[in-house]
Amino acid sequence: MLGLMQQWPLLCHKILDNAAIQHGKREIVSRSCEGPIVRTNYVELRQRSLKVAQRLERDGFKLGDRIATLAWNTGRHLEAWYGIMGIGAIYHTLNPRLFPEQIVWIMNHAEDQAIFVDLTFMPLVEKIAGAVPSLKKVIVLTDKAHMPATSLPNAVAYEEWLAEADGDFEWASVDENTAAGMCYTSGTTGEPKGVLYSHRSNVLHAMIAAMPDAMGISSRDVVLPVVPMFHANAWGLGQSAPMIGAKLVMPGGKMDGASIYELLDTEQVSFTAAVPTVWLMLLQYLQETGKKLPYLKKVVIGGSACPRAITQKFQDNYDVQVIHAWGMTEMSPLGTLGTLKPEYAGLTGDARLNVQQTQGFAPFGVEMKVTDDNDNTHPWDGKTFGRLKVRGPAVANAYYGGAGAEQFDADGWFDTGDVAHIDPNGYMQITDRAKDVIKSGGEWISTIELENLAVGHPDVAEAAAIGIRHSKWDERPLLVVVKKPGKEPSRDDILGFMSGKIAKWWMPDDVAFVAEIPHTATGKIQKSALRAQFRDYRLPTD
Ligand code: AMP
Repeated sequence: MLGLMQQWPLLCHKILDNAAIQHGKREIVSRSCEGPIVRTNYVELRQRSLKVAQRLERDGFKLGDRIATLAWNTGRHLEAWYGIMGIGAIYHTLNPRLFPEQIVWIMNHAEDQAIFVDLTFMPLVEKIAGAVPSLKKVIVLTDKAHMPATSLPNAVAYEEWLAEADGDFEWASVDENTAAGMCYTSGTTGEPKGVLYSHRSNVLHAMIAAMPDAMGISSRDVVLPVVPMFHANAWGLGQSAPMIGAKLVMPGGKMDGASIYELLDTEQVSFTAAVPTVWLMLLQYLQETGKKLPYLKKVVIGGSACPRAITQKFQDNYDVQVIHAWGMTEMSPLGTLGTLKPEYAGLTGDARLNVQQTQGFAPFGVEMKVTDDNDNTHPWDGKTFGRLKVRGPAVANAYYGGAGAEQFDADGWFDTGDVAHIDPNGYMQITDRAKDVIKSGGEWISTIELENLAVGHPDVAEAAAIGIRHSKWDERPLLVVVKKPGKEPSRDDILGFMSGKIAKWWMPDDVAFVAEIPHTATGKIQKSALRAQFRDYRLPTD
């Protein structure tokens, strides 16, 4: 027997409709690419998104078209998203930190029909547009006065283009499983792979993200997504903030400590989210200036492992709660968040930091398991690590075009490529990427644990552990270190500092000092490049 309840398709534009009705005057504040801070609200944002939809349709774009965006977090970028989804087309966020050739590859793979682009990235688009035959229109996110001279034949200034519409438009009525958004994974190995979100998955993800033990945001919050919309959907904040009616503060292209501090302070931001690098810059700025964070209550940190020192400083020096989170583009992206269950809520000091070093537990809507290479499930004992697999309504079930099929199994589990263990209370801890883990004498050594430990040394700015070929043990760890400016730690200083804190056989066989460690476009250590750099390295133990 079927239930007798209404079919109410989960469509993204309903988020915006509700925001306009219930929270219409809540502001969206953006640092514009032209410079000034600009303000709008949910009523206006919805109206302008309707105009985007109307204008796109008039230009001949339609259901299923992929429409790219190459833009910072701003109100205009958000309008473009909702306008694109509003005709049943698909917003396709491009990461400007990729090499131009990679962007061209991705755009051609997706067959993008049009692109919304910030002024910052016009030189890039001028360079690559000719190599993307499907591209029919370039909409420059600015007004007539700031429109640059351009060689592109089909470029228009967004505000002029938008002024030709009156917003008298009905959102497309589509099935909730219709594709809504697209994002390619960074592809540290092999070609990038496209993840195709649906309206349903975006709406469910937004609800999951807002829940109290996830990000836990409400209409009383002022939300600053520093994490870019082109990095895994700004972790869903472009949907969950309007869904619950939070004020949104969009940082544009400025993510240095002083610029982020200015927004935190003047807009009285209560909640923010970004990768660890951003917070290192902010904490350094705070330390230099002696400034405080009177309004900020919570910060979500993820994208790569959050160093213990960052968590400690936010909590002890600034009274800001840190939520360490793990996720990936394929998961929309939230997977786990480190809020404290009652079992851990009373912890203080180091015991609390130990729990916060884990990536947290999965909210409703994310199932997890850890297996060996033969898919045998490991116990949740907080130490047996293996392949981390997930499933849920906001997890991909295939890549666009069918690449990477081996990562999905018949029971719906997606192999994340991460290596992790889970404790009896459900707290998951990433110990590695499957391809980065060091296999020494048949046993696995967690590179992340070595790195976390090494950066605890006061003179170490950054550290990366890689496996070096070894004639007896197959592989042994080499620790690659960037020194803090003005500091001269020796190999023995660092090894001495680590000794006794990990199993003896996990200790790096050597330390190599470098000026810089290579990073990917999403700020992660590029282990493949580092391994190539040290391909011929001979360990003193070999
Ligand atoms: P992306 O799809 O670019 O966001 O990358 C996802 C990958 O980033 C994950 O599979 C992890 O390897 C890594 N990652 C994300 N968050 C964390 C975290 N909190 N700790 C460690 N690794 C993380």
